[in-house]
Amino acid sequence: MRYEGTTYRPPPEADSFLLQVTVGCAHNQCTFCHMYRDVSFRRIPMDQIEEDLREARGIYSKMERIFLVNGDAFVLKAETLASIAGKIRFYFPECRTITMYASIKDIRAKTDQELADLRRLGINDLYVGVESGWDDVLAHINKGHTIEEARHQLGRLHRAGINHIANLMLGVAGAGNGMENARLTAEFLNQTAPCLIWVGTLAIFEGTELYAEMEQGVFVSASEMEILEEEKELIRNIELDNVRFYGVHPTNAVRVSGVLPRDKQRMIDAIDNGIEGYGEEALSATFHRESL
Ligand code: SF4
Repeated sequence: MRYEGTTYRPPPEADSFLLQVTVGCAHNQCTFCHMYRDVSFRRIPMDQIEEDLREARGIYSKMERIFLVNGDAFVLKAETLASIAGKIRFYFPECRTITMYASIKDIRAKTDQELADLRRLGINDLYVGVESGWDDVLAHINKGHTIEEARHQLGRLHRAGINHIANLMLGVAGAGNGMENARLTAEFLNQTAPCLIWVGTLAIFEGTELYAEMEQGVFVSASEMEILEEEKELIRNIELDNVRFYGVHPTNAVRVSGVLPRDKQRMIDAIDNGIEGYGEEALSATFHRESL
C-alpha cells in the first residue's frame, strides 16, 4: 500500500484498514489546522485504489472495517464512493463498515438518494468536524459551515441511515468563552444526536492563521482550567441517551471516557480529580501542545 503525504486517522479506527482515496484536504482552510498544508488536494486514481485493495487482501485474512484516508474523503462524488465501495466488497466481502472524515459541505453535495445508496453499500459512522456549536466560533475558524447548515445536513444524513461521530475541540472559542461554547455545543449535540462524541483540545501550531492571531494578541488561548471547566459544562449539558463520550485525545490535559448519561458524574469527578492533581497554578496557563 502506498500512502502519500501525512496520514491521519481517528484514534477509534486504530484497527481499521486505511485505504487512501484522496491526498490532503479539499477544504484546507480551517484557521487552526496544519495537517495538510504541505500537500495539494487530489484524488487517488481508481486503479491504484484497486491495487492497494488487492495487496491488502494478500496481507489481511479478515477486515470488517475500512477507513478511507484522507482529510475529507467524503468530498468524492457519490458515484466514485460507490465504485470504491464495490471494489471493497469484491476484495473484502466481510467488510461491514466503510468510514471516513466528512464535512458538512460534502453531505450537502449529495442527494438524499445518493446518501441512502451509499449507506446500503456499507458507508456509515462518518467523522464530522463539528468543533463547536457556536456560529461565531465556526466563522472565526473558517470551518466552512454554519450551525443551521450543519443541523440540516446531519438530519439528512441520519434520515439516510448514516450515523455520524462528532469531533469537538475544547478551547476553540478562546479565553473567557469556554462556558458559552460548552452550552451551545451541547445544545447542538442534543439536536443532532451523534453516535459518538470525540473530544480533543485546541492546539495552536506555527504557520496557521490562528497562530498569527495569537502572536498579534487577537486570539487569546483559554487556560487549562477554563478548558477543563468547559468540558465539565459540556458533559453536564448533554442530554442524549446512550451516547459514547471519548475525551481521551492526547491533546487533553485530563482524559475521560464513558457512556452518557450513565457515566456523567463519574467523568465530571474524574476531571475534578485531574484539576486537583495538577493544582490551580499549573492550570492557570495554557499547555504547549507539540502535535496532534
Ligand atoms: S480541520 Fe479538517 S476540514 Fe479543516 S482544514 Fe483540517 S483537515 Fe480540512
